[in-house]
Amino acid sequence: MSDPTTDRTTDPTTDRTTDQATDKATDPAPVTVLGLGLMGQALAGAFLREGHPTTVWNRTAAKADPLVADGAKLAGSVAEAVAAGRLVIVCVTDHHAVDALLDPMSGHLDGRVLVNLSSGTSGQARETAAWAARHGGTYLQGAILAAPDGIGTADATLLYSGPRAAFEAHEPTLRVLGGGTGHLGDDPGLSSLHEVAVLALMWGILNGFLHGAAVLGAAGVDASALAPIARQGIGTVTEWLSGYARQIDEGVFPAFDSSLDTHVAAMVHLLQESESLGVSTEFPAYVKAVADRAVAAGRGAEGYMTLIEQFRAPSVVRAPSVEGGEGASE
Ligand code: NAP
Repeated sequence: MSDPTTDRTTDPTTDRTTDQATDKATDPAPVTVLGLGLMGQALAGAFLREGHPTTVWNRTAAKADPLVADGAKLAGSVAEAVAAGRLVIVCVTDHHAVDALLDPMSGHLDGRVLVNLSSGTSGQARETAAWAARHGGTYLQGAILAAPDGIGTADATLLYSGPRAAFEAHEPTLRVLGGGTGHLGDDPGLSSLHEVAVLALMWGILNGFLHGAAVLGAAGVDASALAPIARQGIGTVTEWLSGYARQIDEGVFPAFDSSLDTHVAAMVHLLQESESLGVSTEFPAYVKAVADRAVAAGRGAEGYMTLIEQFRAPSVVRAPSVEGGEGASE
């Protein structure tokens, strides 16, 4: 029932009152969560804890049991779940799994905001956004920069892209998932781009940590001894990032702290030490190969960020293709 003087709706099934166009309501807005893996369960659990009427669906229905015990409503089909509310959240493995849910959704998306928190590429996000628009829905792509146990805490960061108006309309509900909730821009591909950028950073740090642990382990030192030193080192590098980002944006790489030549000399030590300990040289050889190319291009006297050109250029390293075969990236 709609009251035109207030633009508010009383839902006869719940007797709750919410704004028609936004979640800025006195009562928590209804939300649907499709996909109840580790992350989907954490998302639905966070909504339930904050009192949102939560409808859930999962391909394997039994995974909904703990959520149903906490008050969630289990839908019998994707269509039924989507019909339950204006805000529909999808969190499944990848875009193939998302695609499997789209057909059952079509015909039920009119006026709804579909928020896809599944990982994917920016192209996949834009394609799904176009599909949603063709079916009368609005699409937000999200990137979850948190583990399931962080969902619902002030520390969790979730970044959204797509129409700002749709984000703002549902921001109070989306903010339940994490204190670091933000909107990156209208292009739905932006959050996937940010997600892969952060993943590149994470794997770079973790691979460096693993190599360090392998080097120390070969000398009989536990990885636990590296952890506090690594933490301090990562903190130091973190302090450099804003200044380095400015250098990349301005395209000027002064060697304020250390020249690339000095870095390369230390990279040789890492390679030699790894070789003599019988540890894999793959990671340090890669690091040095990238720097060697820049030195050969006459950049040795510049600062480390001069390597950005090596990362922008197509790789000269033969890498397996995304389909698992040999790539031809030379
Ligand atoms: P998960 O525990 O492996 O759960 C995967 C979910 O996808 C399950 O609900 C599964 O259903 C569903 N699914 C897979 N293929 C499907 C299909 N063809 N049709 C319908 N449903 C299908 O994975 P997760 O950890 O929840 O991750 C989900 C998404 O969140 C991923 O894109 C991941 O990259 C992203 N993410 C995860 C984390 C994390 O720390 N876990 C952090 C950031 C982002 P069944 O239960 O029936 O198998």
